[in-house]
Amino acid sequence: STQIRLAARPQGEPKDSDFETTTQEVPELAEGEVLLRTVYLSLDPYMRGRMSAAKSYADPVEIGDVMVGGTVCEVVGSRSERRAVGDVVLAYTGWQTHAVVPARQTQRIDPDLAPISTALGVLGMPGFTAYAGLLEIGRPQPGETLVVAAAAGPVGSAVGQIARLKGLRTVGIAGGPEKVRALSETYGFDVALDHRDPAFREQLEAATPDGVDVYFENVGGPVAAAVWRRLNTYARVPVCGLVADYNATAAPEGPDRLPAFMGSILSRSLTVRGFIQSEFVESHTADFRRDMGAWVRDGDVRYVEDVVDGLDAAVAAFRGMLRGANFGKLLVRVGED
Ligand code: NDP
Repeated sequence: STQIRLAARPQGEPKDSDFETTTQEVPELAEGEVLLRTVYLSLDPYMRGRMSAAKSYADPVEIGDVMVGGTVCEVVGSRSERRAVGDVVLAYTGWQTHAVVPARQTQRIDPDLAPISTALGVLGMPGFTAYAGLLEIGRPQPGETLVVAAAAGPVGSAVGQIARLKGLRTVGIAGGPEKVRALSETYGFDVALDHRDPAFREQLEAATPDGVDVYFENVGGPVAAAVWRRLNTYARVPVCGLVADYNATAAPEGPDRLPAFMGSILSRSLTVRGFIQSEFVESHTADFRRDMGAWVRDGDVRYVEDVVDGLDAAVAAFRGMLRGANFGKLLVRVGED
């Protein structure tokens, strides 16, 4: 079997030499374990955080360890009554072609309900993040205006579509004309903006004549600074991710924005609340499965996947995602599905 391990902690943008590829024999199964063959590996922005030693909500990957990540796998060996050879499961086996894990650390996926890859995207963690973060923290109300960036990605596209279903006016922000077109044509955003356009700030202002009631924060950086000025009294800001900053090695140039930021939280009575999706798993999973399952089945929520082939392609694809090179949910097809 083949693995991709963390070789060094990146400074700034991850380099090829921060990863190393190894091969090893597949271990023997103990009682209760299953042997998994990876079909799809999910690549997600949070993995950049795991490569750093900095304290976070989850432990870092140690140097020499296999890179972590969600996977969809086929069971190819089993010493557990829970799983049979041939089952398709959701697991967390990371960047490798095979893994041996306790069967109880896997969740069965029904391939008849939806394409199995969706368990890592619209019907999996990113879709759940959008659903729980928007509904629980964003508290969207019909007629309000929502803004979200990284809007062509799995989280942002789901946020925009759920908000539209709840009767909001939606403004999506993405990088480059191709993604911006997808925001209107595929995901039904009322307005689609390109954050790389030099006139972005003015366009945002024109796109939000009644201000912004929900800003679903995916990116931070200059986009956030622009949206922040448009927030209405009592606006809600679910802080989901700050991908513009994940490769940063120093504080941004310019004046300290914190006093103005705190001032507007106070004077406009904003609710700014960070979250890690796992905190909502117990409370929101049943509703998510019911609602998102139906929306996807009925075509009310659409999704796009960006699938690269072979574990060898993972490093370049991951690096590209942090620069916006992915178009939709980024997946590696590690083995035949
Ligand atoms: P995406 O597939 O959307 O990938 C990240 C996207 O971020 C890129 O494609 C790019 O899109 C955009 N981006 C990168 N750099 C910048 C920049 N400097 N300025 C503006 N946009 C930038 O990822 P996901 O949908 O998986 O994740 C979206 C966010 O949600 C991330 O911040 C992630 O960390 C967070 N997240 C948080 C979770 C939680 O529990 N809190 C769970 C899951 C995700 P573009 O080309 O459009 O700029």
